[in-house]
Amino acid sequence: MTDPPPRRRLLRYQDIVDDWPAFLEANHAPEPTTLRVRQALVQVDELQRRLRTQGFSLGEVPGLPDYLKVEDGPHSVAQTMEHWLGLLHVQQSVMALPPLALAPQPGERVLDLCAAPGGKTAHLAELMDERGPLVAVDPKEKRLRGLMSNLFRLGCTNALVVAADGRELPGGVTFDRVLVDAPCSAEGNYRKQGGRLPKRTREFQFYITELQTALLRRGVELTRPGGSIVYSTCTFAPEENELVVQRILESCPVTLEPIALDLPHQPGLTTWEGKELTPSLSRTWRVYPHHLDSGGMFMARFRKDPAAPSPAPAHPAEMGPDGGPSRGWRPVPVAFPGEDPGMAWERIREALRLLHEEYGLAPEALDGLGWMVRKENIWVQTAAEWPIGSWKDHGGWRVVSLGLRAFRSAGAGKETPSNPFLGRFATYLPTPDDPAAGPRHRSVSDEELRNLLGGGALQDPPLPAGPVVLHHRGRLLGRGMVGRGGLRHEIPTAQSRRLGVILQAQEGA
Ligand code: SAM
Repeated sequence: MTDPPPRRRLLRYQDIVDDWPAFLEANHAPEPTTLRVRQALVQVDELQRRLRTQGFSLGEVPGLPDYLKVEDGPHSVAQTMEHWLGLLHVQQSVMALPPLALAPQPGERVLDLCAAPGGKTAHLAELMDERGPLVAVDPKEKRLRGLMSNLFRLGCTNALVVAADGRELPGGVTFDRVLVDAPCSAEGNYRKQGGRLPKRTREFQFYITELQTALLRRGVELTRPGGSIVYSTCTFAPEENELVVQRILESCPVTLEPIALDLPHQPGLTTWEGKELTPSLSRTWRVYPHHLDSGGMFMARFRKDPAAPSPAPAHPAEMGPDGGPSRGWRPVPVAFPGEDPGMAWERIREALRLLHEEYGLAPEALDGLGWMVRKENIWVQTAAEWPIGSWKDHGGWRVVSLGLRAFRSAGAGKETPSNPFLGRFATYLPTPDDPAAGPRHRSVSDEELRNLLGGGALQDPPLPAGPVVLHHRGRLLGRGMVGRGGLRHEIPTAQSRRLGVILQAQEGA
């Protein structure tokens, strides 16, 4: 099969799109930049005020109150301190739809089966009020790094990142809600990609639809009876959308549910290329670029039959305390299995003491947080539970992060707070001129910061040796360290380069 040029490839949708001229017009106009506000850290009004004082013009996104449209600005909104501090995530507005359709609740067990780079994972976490386990899976190393970098910058405390092929996730565990945001031919990104599309050969079509069906099937298997599943793609191709959904309806104990959102869309197809499809496919959503002035999206929401059999536990250890199935979950322990809980508590107590006495952290910051020690790190999390099998003895789940890495032991019992932890709890930390600030806060001027980012050290800090929290213009930047050579920053290289770019953008604006 030859692959026609992208513009002609979309012509096959001429007869199914509700308003073809509007579709074409939107697809050939530049896509507006939109952002999602990290509402646990900042209110929408406050973020708007801060960005406006820097020269940004912002507008609302109809129907999405936690989104803002960037109409104009002195530079990219990703080059702002607000972005650095995790107060916003630049994201197409259409990407809000699958998390909103899944509607996870605080305390539920939620699976994001194709998670990287994590825009939807972070949104799911926010909808869950960051309470309850949110398992985020992706098989690709590089994309996992992007996922973790986003989750850490945004300070999501309840995500468990798992490196795995979603089709091969171990059984014996069930989730209340599952998002399968599947890899696809990405035709809905035509506009974002300036009219380019990846090649779509017959081999690719076969490969991708098999992969999508297998991922969705596994998502259904891992959902508890009565639980919900959302399947989404950012493509228009019915082969990857309605036809995949139809295969699942025919072979799994699920039905399609209406999507309870009040946003423009077109119902899914019930016929394609002369073939009649299941009528309930009209409950699925096709979202075209002109609907939200964004990209394209397809989504379907399923309910798993409440009478479907529960999957059998994979290990005897998966029985709950009453002898019934625990659905494969256990409370996150304070010490990683195999490590000494007594020692773990000692380290956690010392870290908490330092936070109060030396960093001046407000005690309410710690409400509801769980801690887990593994090797030299102390992790902070609000997942509360993790799947049995999250550790080696039970195999299967390759957990690569749990919440945020909060502390690392710098030897001699000295616990050093991490940059993501300081960023996440910045609002509970005093500024250096606050009388409540402990000895470990230091404000740096523009010139001092340039010096630090250029690899220099400040020689005259009136500070004790050890870690310090760096502030600049009243905002927390990250961690520094006072040693014999003076005070240096301890922000990882790639991020400190980005900080340099932000400062330059601010100075140039
Ligand atoms: N949900 C993501 C977000 O909002 O940022 C976007 C997901 S993207 C559409 C699809 C993802 O599926 C890619 O990150 C890709 O690496 C991942 N993927 C590909 N094959 C997979 C598999 N076998 N199991 C799980 N994820 C897979």
